[in-house]
Amino acid sequence: MDLDSRIFVAGHRGLVGAAIVRHLAAEGFAHVITRTRAELDLTDQAAVEVFFSEVRPDHVFLAAARVGGIHANSTWPAEFLRDNLAIQTNVIDSAFRNGTRRLAFLGSSCIYPKLAEQPIREDALLTGPLEPTNEWYAIAKIAGLKLCQAHRLQYGHESVIAMPTNLYGPGDNFHPETSHVVPGLIRRFHEAKLAGARSVTIWGTGMPLREFLHADDLADALVFLMRQPECGELTNVGSGEEVSIAELARTVARVVGFDGELVFDATKPDGTPRKLLDSSRLRASGWKPRRSLEEGLAETYRWFVESRQGPEAT
Ligand code: GDP
Repeated sequence: MDLDSRIFVAGHRGLVGAAIVRHLAAEGFAHVITRTRAELDLTDQAAVEVFFSEVRPDHVFLAAARVGGIHANSTWPAEFLRDNLAIQTNVIDSAFRNGTRRLAFLGSSCIYPKLAEQPIREDALLTGPLEPTNEWYAIAKIAGLKLCQAHRLQYGHESVIAMPTNLYGPGDNFHPETSHVVPGLIRRFHEAKLAGARSVTIWGTGMPLREFLHADDLADALVFLMRQPECGELTNVGSGEEVSIAELARTVARVVGFDGELVFDATKPDGTPRKLLDSSRLRASGWKPRRSLEEGLAETYRWFVESRQGPEAT
């Protein structure tokens, strides 16, 4: 991938796609191509084929997907399965038939079995049953990565297949009910600070262990992988920095400047006790994240405050 390559980023308005576009711009890539959903519906096979035959990108980052938490997955299972299968099949197939040299496909740690040994290695794929609450999404993603592998076997088409850990960063969903833990806590601590509240409540016991990666570090890893001579089979992308939810909450409180009490509401679910990827394959090839969790949280908090001061603040 050179600075004059034509690079299509599918899903550029999402957390990951926006980070990839920022990263490519900062590195000086001159031909980054994006399309909004209104301009190009990626579930529409004919429209996707026309786009690729006209634009003929050299490289593709496939960061478009229908995503959501437990609630969304269990409310719209048919859409999660169908839309993700359609988006990835259309993009992978049309890209390679129209001259794309390399594509980056993004999965998620939920593709691994629910009871996979921790830290989760790439070879845990398809060794046991999935977590039922997000299996619709996971099954689609497994089909997508298998399609990439099948393309390599049958036609020699190269794909980077990346499995990121829990992500956070600018542009994330900060909704108080439907967000993931990092944006949820940033918002809650910020509002508590403004209101002069004495305590903040955190869901669950605070004991679950999680690994977090800033979306800009993921973008950096994807560009690194796109530039490697070989793509490999499947690559976990994690920070390797494991924290308890209680430690995370203390760090968010420090970053936000809230000095009240933290209260743990054990009537709320903890979810899985530990989720950590084994990213030693990627580390061995020379990549590591640029920011610590605290630095990444501080950047995200700055973005959150600025975005709320803008015209679209809610
Ligand atoms: P998970 O990694 O799939 O479990 O996704 P989440 O980011 O939703 O939750 C991670 C952990 O943070 C769980 O143990 C939650 O109970 C805990 N948690 C604490 N406070 C919050 C919050 O305000 N929002 C969310 N989503 N999770 C929280």
